[in-house]
Amino acid sequence: MIPFQFERPASIAEAGRQLQAEGTMLLGGGTTLLDLMKLNVLTPSRLSFVKPLLDDSVSVQQSKLVIGAGCTMSQLADDEAVKDSLAAVRQSLILAASPQIRNMATLGGNLLQRTRCTYFRHPDMPLNPEGDAELKFDTPGVETSMMAVLGNNGRLVGVYPGDFAVTLVAFAGQVRVTGREGDRTIDARSFYHLPNKTEFQYSTALDRGEVITAIELPISATLRNSIYLKVRERSSYAFALASASVGIELDGDGSSATIKTANVGLGGLGSIPWHSPEAENALIGQPATDNTFERAADAALANANPPPGTQYKVRLAKRTLVRALKILRDHGPLNDQELWAMQHGRGVQ
Ligand SMILES: Cc1cc2nc3c(=O)[nH]c(=O)nc-3n(C[C@H](O)[C@H](O)[C@H](O)COP(=O)(O)OP(=O)(O)OC[C@H]3O[C@@H](n4cnc5c(N)ncnc54)[C@H](O)[C@@H]3O)c2cc1C
Repeated sequence: MIPFQFERPASIAEAGRQLQAEGTMLLGGGTTLLDLMKLNVLTPSRLSFVKPLLDDSVSVQQSKLVIGAGCTMSQLADDEAVKDSLAAVRQSLILAASPQIRNMATLGGNLLQRTRCTYFRHPDMPLNPEGDAELKFDTPGVETSMMAVLGNNGRLVGVYPGDFAVTLVAFAGQVRVTGREGDRTIDARSFYHLPNKTEFQYSTALDRGEVITAIELPISATLRNSIYLKVRERSSYAFALASASVGIELDGDGSSATIKTANVGLGGLGSIPWHSPEAENALIGQPATDNTFERAADAALANANPPPGTQYKVRLAKRTLVRALKILRDHGPLNDQELWAMQHGRGVQ
């Protein structure tokens, strides 16, 4: 790690001013930024410790869940407004990282985690795609499990690794920021930008000097009947190979019900947290049958462009989405015990 200056700004406005200077980065919980500094992947000359200044409360205001950006992942998962009634929110937090990390990590920092792709985290690896505009799919010998199959524009780009942001885009959340021009609110679905020709991973709608201060999530009927289903190489402490954040509102029961509304997000697949209007359109107004669910999964992955070695992810993603929908139809949201049982391969019921 190279030497850096450590600042304790007195206000968010001061943190924002410090952030405008080249080489300054904000420090939240530090669970990913310090990692990347130790690897010399990120080399800020100055850190501005913003966490103590950020609101860390969770509240319900006009049917929206409002989360201060300083709230930790554990705090949000255990909040009364979330714990028993907003399953996709809680599950996208408790299936992520480890208890120690969740106790430190802020929601603001969580949104901005960088790809876990080996070629980003270890710039001394033989292939370093950062900045390479012409990385071809058929570059031999590339390890592709953390490369995007959706939103890759035909290039090798890193997958967005986080879980909570998938729920945020699925359920039409918003990100509140404050900067030199004052406060503004950005739709989560337009917060993340697909990597452009010279980028290996996403960028965001944040302007220089802007601090994330809060996150909002509408509490809809679909969020109340939701699930975050995560498939990974081992059942704890691993990033998603595929995940689905899904909510449906049904008129009727079982497969004779009609789907009134639906929200669908996918994780572990896209260069950004992936919202799927295609899947939602294939579900809304249709009978809640297995066939409808399979058509929605096909629609969600219709534009997938898997790099060599990641074709399996397309199938995995479809099955994950179909399974999530079936659980919601046949069982409804899972409580913690049911979730653990399922994540450990023991099924639901
Ligand atoms: C071993 C390990 C396993 C993990 N597994 C998972 C997982 O399975 N799923 C998952 O989702 N995550 C996982 N994570 C990532 C973890 O969730 C993130 O590290 C964490 O959420 C980041 O939050 P932080 O507050 O520590 O951010 P920091 O590390 O402090 O900051 C991250 C980034 O956000 C910026 N930033 C921080 N706060 C703000 C703000 N308020 N406004 C603007 N910019 C800001 C920083 O400048 C930095 O660029 C894992 C991490 C580790 C180390």
